Amino acid sequence: MADVHDKKTRSYNMSRIKGKDTRPELKLRKALFAAGFRYRVNVKNLPGKPDIVMKKYKTALFVHGCFWHAHQNCRYFKLPSSNQEFWKAKIGGNVERDKRNVKSLEDQGWNVIEVWECELKKDKFESTISQLKLKLKENMAR
Ligand SMILES: [Zn+2]
Repeated sequence: MADVHDKKTRSYNMSRIKGKDTRPELKLRKALFAAGFRYRVNVKNLPGKPDIVMKKYKTALFVHGCFWHAHQNCRYFKLPSSNQEFWKAKIGGNVERDKRNVKSLEDQGWNVIEVWECELKKDKFESTISQLKLKLKENMAR
């Protein structure tokens, strides 16, 4: 059991270093795949490089880290007490960029779903996936 945990921790750390395939996103991808959804990942030729793209559902999906993308009213979004101006500018820039990307994608006819990392934590995971499945079906029908 200890070994399994170590392996998980190790691959988590590795993924953070490489800057892609971060664990919550991977968990989400696995759950979608298990539910029969097929997708492409890190699609570079679409605005903002969506994390998951499902053409059949006309859906581009982003997994946002709560801190870096300023998840409002979320306990994981709290500006550090020092250098507040720096962080405000930095994170504010991310938020502006997110908005622009969503707008461009929608202009190109995509439905955009933004999933927050905190919604993929253990206690919320199942309900997030159920909601996501519903949304995807709606998107396909549109
Ligand atoms: Zn959050």
